[in-house]
Amino acid sequence: MHLKEELEKHFGYDRFRSGQEEAVREVLNGCDVVLIMPTGAGKSICFQLAAVLLPGVTIVISPLIALMKDQVDALSGKGIPATFLNSTLDAYEMSQRLDGIRQGRYKLVYVAPERFRNPRFTETLTSLNVSLFTVDEAHCISQWGHDFRPDYLNLGRVIQRLGENVRVMAVTATATKAVREDIVRQLGLGAAPRGEPFVSVTGFARPNLYLHVTHCKTHAAKFARLVRVAEAYRCGIVYCATRKMVERVGTMLREDGYDPILYHGAMEDAERTRMQNRFISEDEPVVVATNAFGMGMDRPDIRFVVHWDIPGSVEAYYQEVGRAGRDGGFAWCELLFNFVDTKTQQFFIDSSNPERTDVMRLWSVVKRECSQSPVTRSADDWADAAGLSNGILARTILAMLERAGLVTREMEPGKRAYTTSLLPYAAEKMQALERNCKAMEAKRGGDQGKLDTMRRYAYSKGCRHQFLLNYFGERKAGGAACSICDNCHPRQPVRPKEPTEAQWLEIQKALSCIARLGGRFGLDIAALSLHGDGHPGIAANGLDKLSTFGLLRDKTLLHITNLLEALLNESCIRLTQGIPPLAVLTAKGIRVMKRQSPEFRFNPPR
Ligand code: ADP
Repeated sequence: MHLKEELEKHFGYDRFRSGQEEAVREVLNGCDVVLIMPTGAGKSICFQLAAVLLPGVTIVISPLIALMKDQVDALSGKGIPATFLNSTLDAYEMSQRLDGIRQGRYKLVYVAPERFRNPRFTETLTSLNVSLFTVDEAHCISQWGHDFRPDYLNLGRVIQRLGENVRVMAVTATATKAVREDIVRQLGLGAAPRGEPFVSVTGFARPNLYLHVTHCKTHAAKFARLVRVAEAYRCGIVYCATRKMVERVGTMLREDGYDPILYHGAMEDAERTRMQNRFISEDEPVVVATNAFGMGMDRPDIRFVVHWDIPGSVEAYYQEVGRAGRDGGFAWCELLFNFVDTKTQQFFIDSSNPERTDVMRLWSVVKRECSQSPVTRSADDWADAAGLSNGILARTILAMLERAGLVTREMEPGKRAYTTSLLPYAAEKMQALERNCKAMEAKRGGDQGKLDTMRRYAYSKGCRHQFLLNYFGERKAGGAACSICDNCHPRQPVRPKEPTEAQWLEIQKALSCIARLGGRFGLDIAALSLHGDGHPGIAANGLDKLSTFGLLRDKTLLHITNLLEALLNESCIRLTQGIPPLAVLTAKGIRVMKRQSPEFRFNPPR
């Protein structure tokens, strides 16, 4: 089967991205597949295309209601019959959809893992022709994954019930070995009678991100570095570990004449929306944020990401720097490292993975104090009552007690306190708590390992891209030194300059050419066309007839290429996501082309 033609026919894309075609082919050949690609690399298309090409129905396990709805809407828009089942549906709608599933009306059915708590649903599936069972966001299966969901542990049993003929595809952006192995084990992949799964890790390379680490002893040293990067690259994000640090760095920037956008998890909704709107609409926003910033905040032309504090893991780091340079242009990513900062991360690890002795200590206090009636109290007060080091630790333990079924908690509206009530005691509940303590112990070890790896990254003397790709399990092509990290190719942020008159002319010519090409070609063709080359692709497309053909014939091809890159870096040009990426003029590019941007600055090509 010509998969490429099928991709074009059903989804309108003329090429596969790296890793997609083989994943689909393996599934069609009857293999189980574990597919690991970064967010946005195109995982969904893999199981969606396989679903369209296989007979019968594909079940997709998806953790979020919003995600299900988006995907089902997008599929329906392409004429692919799909639906979802979740708690937002009323009984009538639910039974309509279930009937539709029984009648084979859908190619894809999205459900949350919690649906399998109802054994009748698994029964229904066994009576259908299910060809593919997809687990989206499969890291949720693993206690090493960042958002573990206990209901995911059920899925291995469901797969067993469905039988060996149902193929399984597990997809995630989390690429640690521990998570990968857990996914395989928990889903029962590779265990007879199932064959070995095909495990694919691709798409993690980001060759347009310059990775740099600066060791800083003081906050003043960090700030000096931050300002240097911000002056050179202007549009970017500064990540801090805590809300307090966001405010502190925000104040420093304000005193230096910046108007930063601050963002953290504890903000009011209205303020958060205001900040998001500023981020989207301003020409060159500088955001100071905790890791709460990012989800769904895709702005393609982020030119720098500075980490004021070390993040807790390489995954978190790569995801955060990954927000830079989505347009394909150069972006500067710098970690400001001070060994002392790892203490903050250590605090997070300790308080989110409590030790058994602390769990039991708080449990005995809760048992005693709630024995007569429910108690309303903040986590900090519980920490004091049990002699724990902090409220975050107490909050984590209370959540464990709740999960074990020993207590229930109700949030007091408008307050930071919960009302905690004891539930009837049972020995199994205590066993559940003990199991949870054991899991926490293991998770603490895992989290510690992640922080240690991040620390090693900061001290590493080798290629930083290689370090990251090794971590994700993807091999870098060639394995040679790169030109985009401080260890392979040291460089410093360069402050952009006002173009000279001669440079203005070149810029205008280059941008007019991009405008003329109308988004149908990449930067290479644009360069050849400006250079006036008789490349076969140029004549075949009639580009030698355009008024912009050969406008920069007196320059070298290298100079023209560098000029186009410089304009890409200034967000005058954007590259599309496809392969090859096509060059498009941005709104800023149009203003600059018409010389309506007197404030325009750039780093001229060498
Ligand atoms: P993921 O699930 O990995 O986060 P998606 O499957 O949602 O990523 O894909 C991200 C974007 O890339 C979507 O807009 C999708 O339509 C697009 N995309 C996926 N595969 C291709 C392809 N082969 N060619 C062009 N665009 C693609």
